Amino acid sequence: MQGNPCAARPGDAYVVAMSSVVANYPSSASDARAELLAFAGRPAGEPSVDSRPDLIGLEREALTEALASIGLPKFRTGQVWHWLYHRGVTDFQEMTTLAKPLRAQLAETFRISRPAVVTRQDSVDGTIKWLLRFADGNEAETVFIPEEDRGTLCVSSQVGCTLTCSFCHTGTQRLVRNLTPAEIVGQVLVALDHLGGYPTGGPDRRLTNIVLMGMGEPLYNFDNVASALKVIMDGEGIALSKRRITLSTSGVVPMMARCGAELGVNLAISLHATTDPVRDELVPINKKWPIAELLEACRTYPGVNNARRITFEYVMLAGVNDAPEDARRLVGLIEGIPAKINLIPFNPWPGSRYECSDGDTIERFAQIVLKAGYASPVRTPRGRDILAACGQLKSESAKLTRREARTAAAE
Ligand code: SF4
Repeated sequence: MQGNPCAARPGDAYVVAMSSVVANYPSSASDARAELLAFAGRPAGEPSVDSRPDLIGLEREALTEALASIGLPKFRTGQVWHWLYHRGVTDFQEMTTLAKPLRAQLAETFRISRPAVVTRQDSVDGTIKWLLRFADGNEAETVFIPEEDRGTLCVSSQVGCTLTCSFCHTGTQRLVRNLTPAEIVGQVLVALDHLGGYPTGGPDRRLTNIVLMGMGEPLYNFDNVASALKVIMDGEGIALSKRRITLSTSGVVPMMARCGAELGVNLAISLHATTDPVRDELVPINKKWPIAELLEACRTYPGVNNARRITFEYVMLAGVNDAPEDARRLVGLIEGIPAKINLIPFNPWPGSRYECSDGDTIERFAQIVLKAGYASPVRTPRGRDILAACGQLKSESAKLTRREARTAAAE
């Protein structure tokens, strides 16, 4: 769901991606052109420089298999896991409980990845936004939102998004690719690096919650998201429990039950409208899975109860979905679902066609919802000055077609 301060210009995005590739291959011009062509056809996630397999993002079993491939017994998995995720090391030499020859062998065979931090922006309200670059030059944003009683990291699951929700900045950036488990876990590790989060799990930890509410639709990248969350939830590493993780979906109905059964994380729904015609406009996936089907999937979401309520996100758009009638229809629609409603004042972005509802309208709406028995906090916009607020995230990565790459290489 989210933004980079600059309006996207495909040419610029192209230059960002291409210049990164060229920087990684400081060879002759013709070599660079050949690399450009190779880059355009490279499968998603394939590293551009370091071909050693990455240990980050592997679930425990996969890590055991990787270590077994160089003859290491199973008990090494726990040791390496501890160093990767509890202590957050990025250099095998720092794994001091392992003998030096073993550290050297690991370093020869494997790598420990981190996305590169392109920029870090700090908002006046304490929110931090990182623009991260992955090995193939693509970029995504991650946002940390500190509050009195918690610190929430908003994580991206895709570069761009296939969906085109009309109120969302990310929706103007077409999908470039899914993020890998390593890249999703990597966002958390970068945040922990910057927040002094190691060893993990201490009483004073600043990062306490995760929301998959950044760029992309997580249920369209379910396998990678699931692997990443299993790593993040592991009690001997980053150790954030499923109760502290919320996955936000625009309504990919067929995947919702699996998400609840396999991961058991909290669910948030980008609802934003109370009639199908309006939701078709705001969240076009509604044409595929309309409101009635979506709410039925919410009623049967595994594990939902009064202690684990579903959050309905509702962005307040002036004159579009903010009438008292909408509020009344909303509480009628969700009747019987253990739920809370997050009212989100619209956060404008360059070129957006909506305006935020005024304070009185939001208050009136909130009162109707509250009187019907639902908690309806109005979300305080965070990080607006750095375009880090909800719905504002966007990177300049653009998907290159082979033709585009060939044209650029010829120039
Ligand atoms: S709000 Fe819609 S367009 Fe924006 S990231 Fe989420 S699913 Fe994609």
